[in-house]
Amino acid sequence: MDYLPVFLNLRDKLALVVGGGAVASRKVELLLKAHARVRVVAPRLHSDLALYRDAGRIEHLGYQFEPRHFDGAVFAIAATDSSEVNQAVATAGAARGIFVNVVDDGAISSAVMPAIVDRSPLLVAIATSGQSPTLARRVRAQLEALLPERLGELARLAGSARERVQRALPDVQRRRRFWDGLFAGSIASKVFAGSTREAQQLLDAELRAATDGTPQARGEVYLIGAGPGDPDLLTLRALQLLQQTDVVLYDRLVSPAVLERVRRDAERIFVGKESGRHRATQERIHALLLEYAGRGLRVARLKGGDPFIFGRGGEELDLLQRAGIPVIVVPGITAALGAAAAAGLPLTQRGLAPSVTFVTATGDGAERLDWRSLAAPVQTVVFYMGVAQLPRIVELLRAHGAEADRPAAIVEQATMPGQRVIAGCLGDISAQAHSAQVAAPALLIVGEVARRAARSVDPVHSMLGTAAGKS
Ligand code: SAH
Repeated sequence: MDYLPVFLNLRDKLALVVGGGAVASRKVELLLKAHARVRVVAPRLHSDLALYRDAGRIEHLGYQFEPRHFDGAVFAIAATDSSEVNQAVATAGAARGIFVNVVDDGAISSAVMPAIVDRSPLLVAIATSGQSPTLARRVRAQLEALLPERLGELARLAGSARERVQRALPDVQRRRRFWDGLFAGSIASKVFAGSTREAQQLLDAELRAATDGTPQARGEVYLIGAGPGDPDLLTLRALQLLQQTDVVLYDRLVSPAVLERVRRDAERIFVGKESGRHRATQERIHALLLEYAGRGLRVARLKGGDPFIFGRGGEELDLLQRAGIPVIVVPGITAALGAAAAAGLPLTQRGLAPSVTFVTATGDGAERLDWRSLAAPVQTVVFYMGVAQLPRIVELLRAHGAEADRPAAIVEQATMPGQRVIAGCLGDISAQAHSAQVAAPALLIVGEVARRAARSVDPVHSMLGTAAGKS
């Protein structure tokens, strides 16, 4: 280990920055964030630095650097584009026993600045001992995705409860178990989802239970939208929760690639309803949710697309809330949005489609729809449907006044490796779907915007084409 990582408390301490450009400006910003007093030595100032000076937030000395500028400073950064000046700062710092970071010159620096993941009060600092700042930034990007945005809030909550926990649980082992449970369980996930108050209440309840000596296992359920299939379309929160779950209940629509992103040793339970095969009823799903969460496990209920778009997410939410089980709902990219992006079809467009409607025409839903308004022009209507319903949908639209040449497109397996886009119009889309042997999952997009489907069809290739054309 060539360096010792430490965190400096610079509050109200003087830090010297030599240099007045964009790089110096970023360093000054960082120092101000850490509540340091900042002295900048530079003949000219970058516009951001000039603003800080005018606001009285930094002291500016508009001269060439001289060693006396170190007076009173406890730390220094050299960020000029002159290696002689940078060297002079490093030498002067060394003579006074003050640590100096020279930007982009590890060899003459006595301190290196890490890449930072800031979840204050929680901080992660990454350094490669000067070998490769680019690698440090890559690691940072990976950690940024991994660490929930509100991790700092969790740290603060834990900090505020620390003394109470210490009093309630004098035994070190039990206390450690309490904290471990807290960080892995519903209190943490509530904080991450933005419900700090609920988290606080859970914490109080758990502390009471722990003091009574009756710590109850407390399970929780994550109602997660898995998106349309491509695992890169999962949200960061979905990914974070899938990495900490004990059990996953998943639908037929959840792609194998998404399941790959679930924690290796989580139990996977298929609860999809595939016609002709074993029918897992909604009641069975409800029973499983209650059973696993009741055992104190973390249960991910993973649904295709978004849980609240034709996903029966509402029913599951009601059930769990009635049972007093903490639930976190994580939105997903619904199939219509995935299909639109993948097929290069904007769902709204100025002049052509000022509105978009998502419709499901499965089950008995079709009768209750207002077909006259769905058939009206100047809009986009997306039908989530079983493929078998397609002819009926087209028939109903036509019967309510939609003309035969209204553009229509079918997107099959949107965002998945087998994606197909079939373009046509209401007059021929059923026949086309039939001859192309379209299979589930697929959806139908009706409206002027679907005209583009005939042109675009494979945006991935057209993107590659553009890139190749440029190079
Ligand atoms: N909650 C889901 C929808 C469930 S309803 C969501 O928000 O996307 C199931 C219907 O969604 C399917 O019948 C199909 O019409 C549509 N669907 C789901 N995934 C799809 C995909 N990858 N490609 C095309 N259609 C899809």
